[in-house]
Amino acid sequence: MTYGYRTALVLGTECCALTLGNVESAGELGKYGASKVINIGDDVLDNFDSQVHTAAIAEVANNINASVVIVNHSAQGKALLGRLAARLNAGSVSGVNEVPTNDGAFRVKTNVFSGKAIAQYEIKSAVKVLSLMGNSVQPEEVGSPVAVETASPDLPTSRVSIKEVKTVEGTVPLPEAELVVSAGRGMKAPENWGIIEDLAQTLGATTACSRPVADTGWRPHHEHVGQTGVAIRPNLYIAAGISGAIQHLAGVNNSKVIVVINKDPEAPFFKEADYGVVGDLFDVVPRLNEALKKYKAEN
Ligand SMILES: Cc1cc2nc3c(=O)[nH]c(=O)nc-3n(C[C@H](O)[C@H](O)[C@H](O)COP(=O)(O)OP(=O)(O)OC[C@H]3O[C@@H](n4cnc5c(N)ncnc54)[C@H](O)[C@@H]3O)c2cc1C
Repeated sequence: MTYGYRTALVLGTECCALTLGNVESAGELGKYGASKVINIGDDVLDNFDSQVHTAAIAEVANNINASVVIVNHSAQGKALLGRLAARLNAGSVSGVNEVPTNDGAFRVKTNVFSGKAIAQYEIKSAVKVLSLMGNSVQPEEVGSPVAVETASPDLPTSRVSIKEVKTVEGTVPLPEAELVVSAGRGMKAPENWGIIEDLAQTLGATTACSRPVADTGWRPHHEHVGQTGVAIRPNLYIAAGISGAIQHLAGVNNSKVIVVINKDPEAPFFKEADYGVVGDLFDVVPRLNEALKKYKAEN
C-alpha cells in the first residue's frame, strides 16, 4: 500500500486500493495511504482464477481511470501481470523494487543478475502495470481508516473448478519462504544441524545455508543462498555462524529483518543486521528456540 501511495504522490494523483473476495478490515488500508478502498466481495474471487481476477481488476481500473496498476510479485501477481497489461493495453514491468520516478518519463527499476546490477525501464503507455517485489518499501502510516466502497462488476464464470484441496506437508520452498533460518561454516559439521532444524520447525521456517556448506555436502545445494545460489527476500532471515561475505549478502540483504548470530563481533554480517547476538551459536540457538517455544505456548 505504501508503494502505491508513494507512486501516487510522484504522479500527483490519488491512491486507490482494491480488495477482492471476503476481506476483513479493508478500510485499514487508508492508514497506509489509500484515499479510497474498493472491495469486490463476490465469492467467486475467494479462489484464485487469473482470468476472473484479471476481469475484476481491469473493470475497476477502467472505471477509476487508473494510470498505474500494481500487483504483488507473487505467483498470483505474476499470473495477473501479463493478462492485465493485455487487457488494459498497458506496458508492464515485472519485479519492480523502487518507487517510480516521473520527470516527464515514467521510469521503474528492477534488480538483475542476483542484485549485482539494476535495470531501469521507461514505460511509455498511458496505463502501466507493475508487479512489486516483497519488502521493497517499509509500510508507513500516513492517514486513517477509510470507508470501504463496494463494486459488483459482471464477472466471467470461472472455467476452473476446485475438486480437492491438499495441504502440502513440510516447509515452504526457499524462494517463497517468509521465514528462513540459515547457517554456515560456524556449524563445524553436518551432524550439528539439528539445532537449526529445530529452530526452523518452531518458527515454521525454511532452512538455508552458505555456499561452502553446500559445496562440502553438509547441506543440499538447493539450500545455498547468495550470489550463486537462491536470492531470497523473506520477512525474517536468521543467520547463524555465517560471516556475511559480499557474495552471501547479495542473495539475502533484501530480507526485511536480519538476525545474525556470530561469536566474532567483527563479523561483517553485523553491519547488515537488524538484530545481532555476539555469542556461541551452540549456546544461543537452542536458547532462542526454547524462548520461542515458551512464547508460543503462552500466546
Ligand atoms: C564467485 C563467488 C561466488 C560466491 N557465491 C556465494 C554464495 O552465493 N553464497 C555464499 O554463501 N557464499 C558464496 N561465496 C563464498 C563467500 O565468499 C564466502 O566464502 C562464504 O559465504 C563463507 O561462508 P560462511 O560464512 O559459512 O563461512 P566462514 O566465512 O568460514 O564464516 C564462518 C563464520 O562462523 C562464525 N563462527 C564460527 N564458529 C561459531 C560459533 N560457534 N558460534 C557462532 N559463530 C561462529 C565465524 O566467526 C565466522 O564469521 C562465493 C564466493 C565466490 C568467490
